[in-house]
Amino acid sequence: MAGKRIGILALQGAFIEHEQAFNRCGARSIEVRSPAQLAEVDGLVIPGGESTAIGKLMREYGLDKAIKDRFAAGMPIWGTCAGMILLAREVADSKQFSLELMDIRVKRNAFGRQINSFEADLEIADIGKTRGIFIRAPYVEKTWGEARILATYQDKIVAVQQGNKLLSTAFHPELTEGGEMHRYFLSML
Ligand code: GLN
Repeated sequence: MAGKRIGILALQGAFIEHEQAFNRCGARSIEVRSPAQLAEVDGLVIPGGESTAIGKLMREYGLDKAIKDRFAAGMPIWGTCAGMILLAREVADSKQFSLELMDIRVKRNAFGRQINSFEADLEIADIGKTRGIFIRAPYVEKTWGEARILATYQDKIVAVQQGNKLLSTAFHPELTEGGEMHRYFLSML
């Protein structure tokens, strides 16, 4: 992992927080807004934010195809929250755009109005305990194929991994200090 460059998709949402979290782990990250910048990185994070906005800008900048091409060539991707939605093969009750890479069906804003945002202690397979901050979070309704459930919260799937190339979390690890998930993604590179 030493010397690997992590790209943070920096179109909208919580990209600066991911850069800071990788900094705390001693890893280098760069902001990605174009296919040329994407070509320079060894792994990509799609941050939380608004999945419709990020998806729209992604297509405008030709990043949708570029990301799929890099993924097909072996680049690992981690999606958090809106990023999880953008990785999913299926988005429940919606025709919204996604990259359709991960064998999961996600439900947007799935925890309901009363608990728009909340924090919870989570136990992640292979990683251990972490604090999860959920902000209008999705959850995963269903996985298939090679997708492996890493964590649930109140019986809802909130973290999934697919092979050594895809990771997705419904919560925001960039907003907590521990760095467990960031180090885990680095180990996938
Ligand atoms: N609710 C947002 C969406 O549907 C995701 C929220 C987030 O990323 N914190 O895109």
